[in-house]
Amino acid sequence: MNSRRRFIRLAALSGAGVLATAGAFAADAPVLDEKDPQALALGYVAYAARANKAKYPNYAAGQTCSSCQFYQGKAGAPMGPCPLYGGKQVAAKGWCSAYAKKAG
Ligand code: SF4
Repeated sequence: MNSRRRFIRLAALSGAGVLATAGAFAADAPVLDEKDPQALALGYVAYAARANKAKYPNYAAGQTCSSCQFYQGKAGAPMGPCPLYGGKQVAAKGWCSAYAKKAG
């Protein structure tokens, strides 16, 4: 069971108390390590310029987590949660192969 499903299951089991916890979870979420298995699988790097361009030809200069539709950090914050990594915090200047440009 992945962590997102586990979290949803926990939320369902625990009810409203978890809603308050969910906010704290996002703010206090651990920082994603580049060596995290999921990070390695998707080629996450904390600095987009270090993306493995040979392995991920979809990378284009200028792409960063802060302009990705999955990024949940506040504007100007150095990092923010990414749901693809169970809500762990990714660097605003980071990148991974799941990058999808934010609309607008
Ligand atoms: Fe960054 Fe988007 Fe990858 Fe999340 S999915 S790590 S926000 S590029």
